[in-house]
Amino acid sequence: MLKRKSQEYLQKYPKVCLFLDYDGTLTKIRKLPELAVLDKNMREILTKLKNNKKYYLGIISGRELQDVKGLVKLNGLYYSGNHGLEIRGKGINFTHEATEKTVFLLDELASKLSENLKDTQAFIEHKGFSLSLHYRNALDEKLVSEIFHQTFDAFETTSLQLFQGKKVFEIRPKVNWHKGKAIAKLFNILDLHSNLGIIFIGDDRTDEDGFKFVNSLNGLSIHVGKGKNTAARYCLKDTNAVKDFLAFLAKWSYS
Ligand SMILES: [Mg+2]
Repeated sequence: MLKRKSQEYLQKYPKVCLFLDYDGTLTKIRKLPELAVLDKNMREILTKLKNNKKYYLGIISGRELQDVKGLVKLNGLYYSGNHGLEIRGKGINFTHEATEKTVFLLDELASKLSENLKDTQAFIEHKGFSLSLHYRNALDEKLVSEIFHQTFDAFETTSLQLFQGKKVFEIRPKVNWHKGKAIAKLFNILDLHSNLGIIFIGDDRTDEDGFKFVNSLNGLSIHVGKGKNTAARYCLKDTNAVKDFLAFLAKWSYS
């Protein structure tokens, strides 16, 4: 059904933004973030998509921009990191202004958390403009959650906000900005002739804002998973299904 719908969609729009989340979408979720590397086949497909004039290819990740760029290892596409706080690519070099005053706060919070959580095997990922506390490997998830909340609540949090993902707490600047806004910003820059299509694929709660924006344009919003509790209109069951779908898209030519 998704392929048939995509066929119609690709016929309707000569040029399409193809925006993809990274973890859980292009790679399986790994115990440690650095182990989530692209397999050879997926990178070949992304290279084909990048070289296909039908698409503007973008990776829209919660990771730090340099981190996700280093994992994808492809130039000439769009990258958005830190849930949209940073966006780079041809014609855009954007860092959200809210990051200026929170950078030092996040440093301070990161060191407090690592001190308080040192015996729990929870893992703090400092992403420059945001922090992630991964507790996938923790022996006692409840304890991690308790210590985390105690530490966070005692902190000066008026300019920081908390989000929850899959076995991860995310702390970001308190600003009305997210993947959906980043996708909208990028789309509006690229949409020079107002006949641009959009496809976004993601797997986690933080992708929901992206799905909503795509829905507002009647684009193809695609959830990786069972398609439950999501605003996405379509679903692909796992990263292998994503790969198969992307290979299908890569065969299209610009028309
Ligand atoms: Mg993801």
